Amino acid sequence: MKYVTIHGIPVPAVGLGTWQLKGAICIAAVEHALSIGYRHIDTAQVYDNEREVGRALRTGRVDRDKIFLTTKIAPANFARNNIITSTYQSLTRLGTEYVNLLLLHWPSRAIALEETLGALLELKQSGQVRHIGLSNFSASEVEQASRYAPIFCNQVEYHPYLAQPELLAQAREMNYMLTAYCPLALGKVLQDDHLLAIGKAHGKSVAQTALRWLIQQDNVIAIPKAGSAEHRCDNLAIFDFALSETEMQYIHAIHRRKRVVIAEMLGWEH
Ligand code: NAP
Repeated sequence: MKYVTIHGIPVPAVGLGTWQLKGAICIAAVEHALSIGYRHIDTAQVYDNEREVGRALRTGRVDRDKIFLTTKIAPANFARNNIITSTYQSLTRLGTEYVNLLLLHWPSRAIALEETLGALLELKQSGQVRHIGLSNFSASEVEQASRYAPIFCNQVEYHPYLAQPELLAQAREMNYMLTAYCPLALGKVLQDDHLLAIGKAHGKSVAQTALRWLIQQDNVIAIPKAGSAEHRCDNLAIFDFALSETEMQYIHAIHRRKRVVIAEMLGWEH
């Protein structure tokens, strides 16, 4: 496992995304992931699986302090008191005293950033949250948020079909972690001929090539979701090869402005 160091904290460069993993399937997936070496798990209040993730963390036989756990606050909970209460509820469901990273799941105009980030700082000071981050924030929104709290992460859609040059540059300048969600574009990159050819030259699959391309970029980590055990194993087997600079640039050039997740799909105001 490669680690990316942000604010002096090592973060596993590949985590398990858990969106759409529910019930017993979620528990089994997280337990299996931990057993094969995953040490980074991504969940959210709206995924409705924090309880299952928590159960797997307890049965997975990996010390809690070896795991990097992220959850996200739903925009409906952004008022100060709701942040405090809903985080307490998340921690209860997860069966842990703290999360390593707490994200604002999506920007909201309903509550001022000063209030929301102030509440996150309170949680950080009380030890329930180690680091504060954002998700789906634009560069200017990150800039605004950083006036109120140190920003550890911005989690955004990022894969070979969607470039993020502005956020990449900002992540390096401000030294925050850019977490690539939908790193496989929900499977839409898997038939790509260019990625297929590059992967083949390294004896790797398209998924492994796309993930390697992401985590080979400074400040970038990826959180592929894999319901299948085989895919979970494949997605960890990306630390034994490297893409050349030419291959990296070639994949950068593929991008097609193809966004696969939009706020409307999730039914949120934005
Ligand atoms: P994704 O990881 O791009 O794609 C998941 C799909 O790729 C699944 O169908 C999975 O199949 C397949 N897959 C995984 N590994 C594979 C492999 N090695 N070979 C072939 N197929 C493979 O999409 P995602 O689940 O939307 O995104 C990942 C995570 O990002 C989520 O689970 C969630 O934690 C996070 N996320 C965050 C936000 C946000 O707003 N912050 C939004 C979306 C997602 P199987 O399941 O059958 O293995």
